[in-house]
Amino acid sequence: MTRIFSGIKPTGHLTLGNYLGAVRQWVEVDQHKAEALFCVVDLHALTVDHDPARVRRLSRQAATLLLAAGLEPARCTVFVQSHVDEHTRLSYLLECTASDGEMRRMIQYKEKSARERAAGGGVRLSLLTYPVLMAADILAYSADEVPVGDDQAQHVELTRDLAVRFNQRYGHTFTVPKAVLPAVAARVMDLQDPTSKMGKSHAETAGIIYLLDEPEVARKKIMRAVTDSGSEVVYDREAQPGVANLLEILAACTGGKPAELAGTYASYGALKRDAAEAVLELLRPVRERHAELCADPGYVDAVLREGAGRARELARPTVDAAYAAIGL
Ligand code: ADP
Repeated sequence: MTRIFSGIKPTGHLTLGNYLGAVRQWVEVDQHKAEALFCVVDLHALTVDHDPARVRRLSRQAATLLLAAGLEPARCTVFVQSHVDEHTRLSYLLECTASDGEMRRMIQYKEKSARERAAGGGVRLSLLTYPVLMAADILAYSADEVPVGDDQAQHVELTRDLAVRFNQRYGHTFTVPKAVLPAVAARVMDLQDPTSKMGKSHAETAGIIYLLDEPEVARKKIMRAVTDSGSEVVYDREAQPGVANLLEILAACTGGKPAELAGTYASYGALKRDAAEAVLELLRPVRERHAELCADPGYVDAVLREGAGRARELARPTVDAAYAAIGL
């Protein structure tokens, strides 16, 4: 049976980008079609300056939101990365397979390390090796598919390279996975700066919709989204990135096509109103279920405990085989 793995970092509150680009596909498609594992990758949240209590709180919130969004523990495995030691055990072997040059070429490393330096801080070594730990996350479970947004495609490509290299050098050990990108909304952009991704790790701005935003707050953010100087609604990512972003969000929420939707609007205001309605409608059940789950912390604990147990069982044979293959 096809195996799927994907993860989410507890570096901030989950955004509409995370939901449309990743989580919704996990809920609607992946957990039904394959043996799927979804992980709150908390170790990855330590790659930049972090507050311990905040990481703990956000990990819990992310796990709760994944369940609220509709992941069903009877259909898939939901767990927290640091509860399963196999990830770090395997990561070291992959550090011995990767080169520092290929790590430094990763776009996210270049961007994030530049941000850290600009902020006057040092760059943690783990920021450089982050894609190796991500490769371990995926390879430990022999995942065939990794459903991610467009920004993670390069890291999955690296994971493939490492799997192939390890297999060639030490004998077949890992399944070579492939990234699966969503057809629409693979990259939801910031509403105030549509040239930048709507990222949960960014500072909180009015351009980012969080899944737990109060409905009126989310509506206001969409109504105030930056559009473009023209007045005609056309779908053109280059010339009209703000409008294109709203069209993609609306299309992703309603199942339409951005270019076709463009033709049905005579003004930016009407497009924003419909986009806001569609987003609120989409998020309403998630917010409601989240509130219910927060009232039942014992349930979330039990899901995560069982998830970790199942994940460990799946990962251990592959990681043990990798240790044996590499000569340990
Ligand atoms: P972030 O970059 O928001 O911190 P993560 O690295 O935790 O998010 O990614 C979780 C998933 O959400 C990944 O599959 C990623 O590709 C996807 N994702 C993140 N931001 C966006 C976005 N703006 N649009 C589409 N998908 C996104």
